[in-house]
Amino acid sequence: MSESRANEVAIVGAGIAGLAFGLLLHARGIPCRIYERVDKIEPLGVGINVLPHAARVLDDLGLGADLEARAILARESAFFNRFGQLIYKEPLGRDAGYPSPQYSIHRGDLQRVLLDAFIDRVGGDRLILDAACIGAEQTGDEATLRLQRTSTGEPLPPASAALAVACDGVNSVIRKQLHPHEGKPNYIGFNMWRGVTRHPPILTGATMIRVGWLETGKMVIYPIRDDIDGDGNQLINWVAELAVAEQLDERDWNREGRLADFMPAFEDWHFDWLDAPTLIRSADRILEFPMVDQDPLPFWTKGRITLMGDAAHPMVPRGSNGAGQAILDAECLADELARSADHASALKAYEDKRLEATSRVVLTNRVAPPDILIKEIVDRTGDKPFDNIDDVISEAELAEIQRRYKEISGYDLETLRARAGL
Ligand SMILES: Cc1cc2nc3c(=O)[nH]c(=O)nc-3n(C[C@H](O)[C@H](O)[C@H](O)COP(=O)(O)OP(=O)(O)OC[C@H]3O[C@@H](n4cnc5c(N)ncnc54)[C@H](O)[C@@H]3O)c2cc1C
Repeated sequence: MSESRANEVAIVGAGIAGLAFGLLLHARGIPCRIYERVDKIEPLGVGINVLPHAARVLDDLGLGADLEARAILARESAFFNRFGQLIYKEPLGRDAGYPSPQYSIHRGDLQRVLLDAFIDRVGGDRLILDAACIGAEQTGDEATLRLQRTSTGEPLPPASAALAVACDGVNSVIRKQLHPHEGKPNYIGFNMWRGVTRHPPILTGATMIRVGWLETGKMVIYPIRDDIDGDGNQLINWVAELAVAEQLDERDWNREGRLADFMPAFEDWHFDWLDAPTLIRSADRILEFPMVDQDPLPFWTKGRITLMGDAAHPMVPRGSNGAGQAILDAECLADELARSADHASALKAYEDKRLEATSRVVLTNRVAPPDILIKEIVDRTGDKPFDNIDDVISEAELAEIQRRYKEISGYDLETLRARAGL
């Protein structure tokens, strides 16, 4: 027997997109229910950034104080070559004049804030755990999810609703169903090893640091929790990226990484402001993930079923935009559904607004992410130390690379300030 809930939106996945979407629907008076594969939501993952465009959506939901209590408000972005020389830095978040902050946060903390708010506001009975979606169908004027209990594999009653929104992440079942002939993910020849380390603050203690370039090894480092032990240590997130011969087949966020596979590239990174080998070796745990994305899709929606977040537009994580674009998708569809009782036109408006916008981010992350400026310096210096950065590139050129990325991914300062009436 199918359980019919004709006025509801069925959401597949209680990740960042699914929970944010549920909260945004609820705030607009639209009922929803989330079906999540895992039987317990654990604080998985490592660091994530929520840029000011998406932070504004979470702040509007009244989550700002909870996020500020757990996150680091990023204050500056700094780029270095692999010799530890500063290439460029600029302020971030509120320090840059944005009306909303940039949150650097453990993914588990971000999910926890969204989850607690969802349970408190929408209700624990609206989150169905241990319910893996194995497909979705259109039945008359409803969308129906086929479900099975993850823990036992036994079938669960199908769930019908007015709409089904797939927020089921990079390995989305519903994306595969809508696009059965889509090719494999694009692997660009690099893997990422990620970890978190308890460590004293680096630079300002709120700096997003990018060092080096992919061929010889690149690191992204930023703090995600402050004063974790009363001694002023922070939880520092780091990512080491490196070209590898062997491709990882699976996109598994929880795959254990091995130090020996990447450590040699960073062994001599002892700078006066960073001891990278110590940072890496002191990590609680190391995870490995391939650097992959997928070509933008021609469509996300079929009848009453649509895609959102990573299910719709998996991107290489080079511009801190994965979570943010998912949150912007969620706000857009919630707004369209609140605006129009005609679901078909709401879904069309959502796809018209978000498919092209996110495709631009996917494609830009491939070729011109914010840290492309490090590659520019590597090329101009022949990957050698420089005497004076001004002899290599002008500050204006560096600032322009950053400005272009912000514009493409929708968080240029002028637009966000104007939106806030500033
Ligand atoms: C365990 C985990 C760890 C992660 N760690 C990081 C990290 O450290 N850094 C980073 O930048 N990004 C990480 N991500 C990805 C990041 O959360 C997303 O890129 C981004 O926030 C967009 O969110 P999303 O909701 O689209 O996808 P996700 O946050 O991946 O959420 C997808 C949700 O759907 C659920 N799901 C999947 N398949 C089904 C199914 N068939 N039926 C029901 N539910 C299903 C998943 O369990 C998950 O809860 C991680 C994702 C996961 C799932």
